[in-house]
Amino acid sequence: MRPPESNEARILLGPGPSMVAPRVMDALRRPILGYLDPDLFVVLFEIQIGLRQLFRTENEITFALPGTGMSGAECALANLIEPSDRVLVVSSGFFGDRLVEIARRCGAEVYPVRSQWGRPVEPEDIESLLKQHPRWKLIAMVHAETSTGVHQPVEPIAELARRYEALLVVDAVTSLGGMPVEVDGWGIDICFSASQKCIGAPPGLAPITISPRAWNSIQKRRTACQSWYLDLRLLWDYWSEPHVYHHTTPVSLMYALRAALEMVEQEGLPARYERHHHQAERLWSGLQELRLELLIPPEHRLPMLTVVRIPEGIPDQEFRLRLLREFNIEIGGGLGEWRGQVWRIGLMGHSCLAHNVDLLLSAMNTLLHQYRSA
Ligand SMILES: *Cc1c(COP(=O)(O)O)cnc(C)c1O
Repeated sequence: MRPPESNEARILLGPGPSMVAPRVMDALRRPILGYLDPDLFVVLFEIQIGLRQLFRTENEITFALPGTGMSGAECALANLIEPSDRVLVVSSGFFGDRLVEIARRCGAEVYPVRSQWGRPVEPEDIESLLKQHPRWKLIAMVHAETSTGVHQPVEPIAELARRYEALLVVDAVTSLGGMPVEVDGWGIDICFSASQKCIGAPPGLAPITISPRAWNSIQKRRTACQSWYLDLRLLWDYWSEPHVYHHTTPVSLMYALRAALEMVEQEGLPARYERHHHQAERLWSGLQELRLELLIPPEHRLPMLTVVRIPEGIPDQEFRLRLLREFNIEIGGGLGEWRGQVWRIGLMGHSCLAHNVDLLLSAMNTLLHQYRSA
């Protein structure tokens, strides 16, 4: 047994957070700066440039929110929605359902379109609902549904949003940095993510980008944004000239995010996507060799999050605890409808390395062998 307290980095192969490269960890040690220090504004400026490249956008309003991925969801919906706005939410799982709940709390009239768990929502189902009512404020969707490992393609939904004159909000928390996300190319109005998944920084920041169309809609609000902390107009007054104080910038996290974005730029997006894709394929064939069933058909599968059925007779919690204690590896359990039935294996950012795939497959082989021969 390993000692429970160890400084050795945990091998994080769950649904996030992912591992953080030493260079990014080192950035956390830089001296603290005040929130109005001109040297900090240089860091924030560089983060904006890095995020625009990663989001593939020219949106001026592109920055990082304080808080994890869910602050991005709250921010996007709270800033766009006014009471009784009509909102369509595309949900193929647990995180899609959170968008439904947040939009309801913002006072919207919410119409969810759900799929069977493990499948994406069909664009035809979305359109038949859009047709039934006039004046849609927005469509919200999750690009990479981390509860099921399903890829929900953005482009067909973006096309519907254009045709029905609705804004498009996309949760790219898990996808950004691990597979193509084309904010301008696809026509996304607000896209948000999180620092700790495929970007490879510590948890605590939510990158976000706002299209001119969405910004215009925010400027025309009749009511104040229900969230003061995540009010985009106030946040942007700090991130842009004249840098009006709003809240204390979590400067250490900003240093780390900047370092992670530098690593993304140095690797290059095509190489980064290819790395995620290639290691996913190695993982999938290794899992199948262990006679584990992959729940998502290849055409809907995400590279950075793989869902397998827990084999008959294997105790879920005990198995994962043994992976953690005996092999120092974390994988995720099931969420929502799939609680207790699946394992979720993440290959995100700096966790997504051949060496980690091999370690996991070998550890699972050892443990499965013990249970199967018992
Ligand atoms: C992880 C995740 C979130 C939530 O992010 P937090 O950082 O935990 O707040 C939201 N959406 C998706 C698709 C996720 O994978």
